[in-house]
Amino acid sequence: MIEKVLIANRGEIALRIMRACREMGIQSVAVHSTADANAMHVRLADESVCIGPPAAKDSYLSTAAILSAASITGADAIHPGYGFLSENADFAEMVEEHGIKFIGPTADHIRLMGDKITAKQAARDSGIPCVPGSDGEVVDFEHAKKWANEIGYPVLIKAAAGGGGRGMKVAKSEAELHDAFDVARNEAEAAFGNGAVYMERYLDRPRHIEVQVLADEEGNVVHLGERDCSLQRRHQKILEESPSPALNSSERAEIGKTVADAVRKLGYRSAGTVEFLYENGEFFFIEMNTRLQVEHPVTEAVTGLDLVREMIRVASGHPLDFTQDEVRMNGHSIECRINAEDPFTFAPSPGPVHEYHAPGGLGVRVDSGLYSGYSVPPNYDSMIAKLIVHGRNRGECLMRLRRALTEFVIDGIKTTIPLHQELILNDEFINGAYDIHWLEEYLKAREADGGK
Ligand code: ADP
Repeated sequence: MIEKVLIANRGEIALRIMRACREMGIQSVAVHSTADANAMHVRLADESVCIGPPAAKDSYLSTAAILSAASITGADAIHPGYGFLSENADFAEMVEEHGIKFIGPTADHIRLMGDKITAKQAARDSGIPCVPGSDGEVVDFEHAKKWANEIGYPVLIKAAAGGGGRGMKVAKSEAELHDAFDVARNEAEAAFGNGAVYMERYLDRPRHIEVQVLADEEGNVVHLGERDCSLQRRHQKILEESPSPALNSSERAEIGKTVADAVRKLGYRSAGTVEFLYENGEFFFIEMNTRLQVEHPVTEAVTGLDLVREMIRVASGHPLDFTQDEVRMNGHSIECRINAEDPFTFAPSPGPVHEYHAPGGLGVRVDSGLYSGYSVPPNYDSMIAKLIVHGRNRGECLMRLRRALTEFVIDGIKTTIPLHQELILNDEFINGAYDIHWLEEYLKAREADGGK
């Protein structure tokens, strides 16, 4: 059994993992940069180690510093959280070479899914429906033209090493294809050091729907339903909900089963998420995330399961102690990502938090490392809190969300709380009638209205 976990992360997710450890009687080790010396994850951990200066590349992304911290504290496992080193196959390999358990999938699975071309091939071979597109890398313009004619315009050129919504170019016609292809390749090379690109049909108005799975080392796999993450700005998720207002129960059961069967075939272990675009009743695979996701709490709210606990149990070699039939989906949950940003311009707003008051009451959960007197450092991602609300149905959930958002006080910095307050009063949102372009269009209309 794992006795001491080093958490190779910061902020709310470090706290989240620490909480699961504490419930399980496992010691936790926090690592932090000098900018995070006063962070909540450092205060709440059993032990902490400073691993470097503020720049992430010299601290949270430094494999040498993190492995040294694990070794001096005698940690027998590392949980990477999300972001930073969580999808770095070389890191996972190095951790295990040091005799430390990596709380996540194998390095081979991380590598397979980290390259979108091999990921798509693996998904298709395992029976997952994919967006019609090129069979692997598209190496030159002639090749691109041939595929575009086969797929049909508009097409999307995507980077094999893409991530975070970067490295995608749309071409609506052959005239646009030449430039789009060159730009996509150059951008991919510059951003990821890998110029390989592939092509897909560009779906017009899809929703983003993803399926959560849990798998152990004995081949037991369960799916925990889906999350709808269509509310996006610049391909970044802003609000997520489970279940999706767009699916009926037979679609839900069917896609869940398809994903669980595929994941079993792949021999995958730990938590994972298979992401799809959903349009006109059809699912199209876009990628698999081989880690815990930011939005995992909505799944926890509707299933009552603790995903981090399950990841730790699987890493300890335990089989899942429940079956698919025992998974019960209960009610509805919505998560709002709260960023330290201006709610109109989205300019980052780091700095001191004078007053902090988190909402509470029935069905409300807040995951955040904030406290009164804390100063949000400018060096990292701007997400500072997640508000997760649960109700017996979507209506009750929205009612609680409205109430919780009015109680939430984060004083001193600008946050996106006012944006969420506004969104959840919108009729289209209330009716669940939104796709991946809805928020961008909403924001554009708001801007044209004079910023309000
Ligand atoms: P990343 O790893 O960069 O997040 P994804 O492949 O997951 O890239 O895609 C991110 C987002 O880009 C999706 O949620 C969707 O909004 C959009 N997208 C991706 N592929 C397509 C497609 N074939 N058609 C339309 N939109 C797409």
